[in-house]
Amino acid sequence: MSSIPAQTASAITVPVPLGDRAYDILVGRGLIEAAGARIAALGARAAALVTDEHVGPLYAQALSRSLAANGLRTAVITLPPGEATKSYAGLERVCDAVLEAKIERGDLVVALGGGVIGDLAGFAAAVVRRGVRFVQVPTTLLSQVDSSVGGKTGINSRHGKNLVGAFHQPSLVLADTSLLDTLPAREMRAGYAEVAKYGLIDDARFFAWCEGNWTGIFDGGPERDEAVAQSCRAKAAVVVRDEHETGDRALLNLGHTFGHALERITRYDSTRLVHGEGVAIGLTLAFRFSAALGLCPLSDAERVEAHLKSVGLPTRLSHVPGGCGTVDELLDAMTQDKKVKGGSLTFILARGIGQSFIAPGVEAEKVRAFLTSEID
Ligand code: NAD
Ligand code: MG
Repeated sequence: MSSIPAQTASAITVPVPLGDRAYDILVGRGLIEAAGARIAALGARAAALVTDEHVGPLYAQALSRSLAANGLRTAVITLPPGEATKSYAGLERVCDAVLEAKIERGDLVVALGGGVIGDLAGFAAAVVRRGVRFVQVPTTLLSQVDSSVGGKTGINSRHGKNLVGAFHQPSLVLADTSLLDTLPAREMRAGYAEVAKYGLIDDARFFAWCEGNWTGIFDGGPERDEAVAQSCRAKAAVVVRDEHETGDRALLNLGHTFGHALERITRYDSTRLVHGEGVAIGLTLAFRFSAALGLCPLSDAERVEAHLKSVGLPTRLSHVPGGCGTVDELLDAMTQDKKVKGGSLTFILARGIGQSFIAPGVEAEKVRAFLTSEID
């Protein structure tokens, strides 16, 4: 009953060694079929499976069947898709449904979906009954390589994104890469910006590998599993060094200062810009800014842009649908970012591909001059 099909035996395991909060990330095609056995091994009697209306009809039945086959009583909670679900109302719904399903302290919340479901279900797990364990089954490329790893959970407030939340590490992450076969192409590209980011931060070899292998990642070849696993290794390494983001976890924000500003300017309207698209423009700008400051060869910035462009991502301010606003609006949006301290800006800059560093105290005038030259 709990035998593990052959294809999952080849799953790649990425450990996250966080002491008594340590867990494994498993990466492979077809993991969801055997998920029940792996989740039951955590020792719970019941699971609340949280998903959204896009993902649920595709995969919730296979997962809940596998859980039931392994003796776990399972309730499915299905929420509307989209960022608006990461709200106080969404949290209330999940918490009440988890209690309704009689999930006890030893039981589990299982998040089956993208980053929206992972962040929301993870936060509900952190607070319901003062904390129950949870399992991430991420279904977007972004959530497989980024949001499901590291324990940041939360919801949005009217004051901004992700402002209410908790650090709550999952007990297991199952990244079934075959689930990405149904992901819309635009979401796939957006997640890919975060994959490329890991190479750009500190792994030039991985970036070069991405340049040569990205079609296999998109087509679902073995390169996809390798890219997801390598991204998880990179994120896990940063998280283990700096679990609560007091130091170099900030490196993961490469491309995000510009990216977040563009998301703010486009009012988080996903028909205009999704997060990964903002990151792709932000990565290009971070390298172009580094080159303009004389820190990095312009040829490296051009290589970053050429690669992101080849996968179909936007790379310039002029690529923002409906416009990127004026230099003042951009600066304003940037200084609202939480990475701003005492008026000066903290950027993640680079000395080259794979050589990023945290640069506190970047003068606003230098940013202004750079943005002016980019907009002209
Ligand atoms: P998402 O969860 O909104 O998913 C994107 C869309 O794809 C949704 O419509 C969803 O229903 C659909 N979908 C998901 N999986 C699918 C599949 N396999 N097949 C078909 N459709 C599918 O978006 P996302 O990009 O995964 O996550 C974005 C969220 O992640 C944001 O809220 C962001 O703040 C958060 N995030 C969190 C962290 C963290 O460390 N916790 C890091 C990065 C991002
Ligand atoms: Mg990001």
